[in-house]
Amino acid sequence: MNIHEHQAKEILRKYGVAVPRGQVAFTPEEAREAAESLGGDVFVVKAQIHAGGRGKAGGVKLAKSPEEVQELAAQMLGSKLVTHQTGPEGKVVQRVLIEEGVDIARELYLGIVLDRSVSKLVIMASTEGGVEIEKVAEEHPEAIFKEYVDPEIGLQPFQARRLAFKLGLTGNQVKNGVKFILALYRAYVESDASLAEINPLVVTGSGDVLALDAKMNFDDNALYRHPEIAEMRDTNEEDPLEVEASKYHLNYIKLDGNVGCMVNGAGLAMATMDIIKLAGGMPANFLDVGGGASVETVRNGFQILLSDPNVKAVLVNIFGGIVRCDRVARGIIEAAKSIDIRVPMVIRLAGTNAEEAAELLKNSGMNFEVASSLEEAAQKVVRLIQ
Ligand code: ADP
Ligand code: MG
Repeated sequence: MNIHEHQAKEILRKYGVAVPRGQVAFTPEEAREAAESLGGDVFVVKAQIHAGGRGKAGGVKLAKSPEEVQELAAQMLGSKLVTHQTGPEGKVVQRVLIEEGVDIARELYLGIVLDRSVSKLVIMASTEGGVEIEKVAEEHPEAIFKEYVDPEIGLQPFQARRLAFKLGLTGNQVKNGVKFILALYRAYVESDASLAEINPLVVTGSGDVLALDAKMNFDDNALYRHPEIAEMRDTNEEDPLEVEASKYHLNYIKLDGNVGCMVNGAGLAMATMDIIKLAGGMPANFLDVGGGASVETVRNGFQILLSDPNVKAVLVNIFGGIVRCDRVARGIIEAAKSIDIRVPMVIRLAGTNAEEAAELLKNSGMNFEVASSLEEAAQKVVRLIQ
């Protein structure tokens, strides 16, 4: 799950990670009040959307007074922000963060992710902060320093110091930087984050080390341990079909292709997407309807995947292990009768009573293509689209 910058900063603040003072606002009036209570004479108005690249797109603006903060917030709120991370459709700004203006001396980069290939956490740091770090990684990989951390041992102070020196921190900045890195690591581990990215991490004119931007993602499977983080979910920022699917406890992820798929089991769903690509097609989604595949889940699944206007054909791949194929076939027929299916559908059912299921589908009077192997199913569905 993703959260907004202001929420990530709230979490970080609790762990003693240095962040600028700030307050979220949902209306221009709230924005002015936030600036008044912050005090000072330079403010920053920051559009809160689940995407980066806001600075370049006009989503981060400086203001010199609470009145100007109100004006800028009025322009931003309700407007559509298009950044290189939002896609061309952009995202509507529904909240802004009002922050104190920070006197920036240097912009650095700091990030923590899990590196599954070595079963360790990796802390990445670079002096090339503020710009797109992906570009730095590609063009100047030597400008990114890494420290691997064994989660059983935890981050050691010497590792944090090594990063601080590589970031070119000196004097008091080193102490501040080390404290920052250790606190960020603790925040990451204790909140079950899957990503913490500070871009830019800034050194101020007076030597403070602050998170000027903050992005955090969390492991959905651990959210039950953090109800206060789960509450931060903002469904306005998510794909509407994915939100709808989560209401039915369906594991749906929208993709860019045109072959809708419905599969029981996550591993089988991954294999199905692979084989669609191998046959020359592009999956429109990942959808795992679970082992049971009841009429109800099949119906909900169809409804959701057919709401995607890109879907030109559907591939159903169900393994009858926990559930018998003939029951699944009856479920599919019943579900298909109750909704308008305007695209061709290829169905492959394997496992218990698969032959009986194929007969039921063929004799249903409905326009199903039945396949016996996964390869055949993928080839059929790709041919139907072409
Ligand atoms: P994004 O990554 O979406 O572009 P950032 O939060 O990184 O958004 O902000 C972009 C840039 O705006 C920063 O690199 C920094 O130069 C400036 N900026 C952001 N917040 C502040 C602040 N509180 N004070 C001064 N400058 C800021
Ligand atoms: Mg940033």
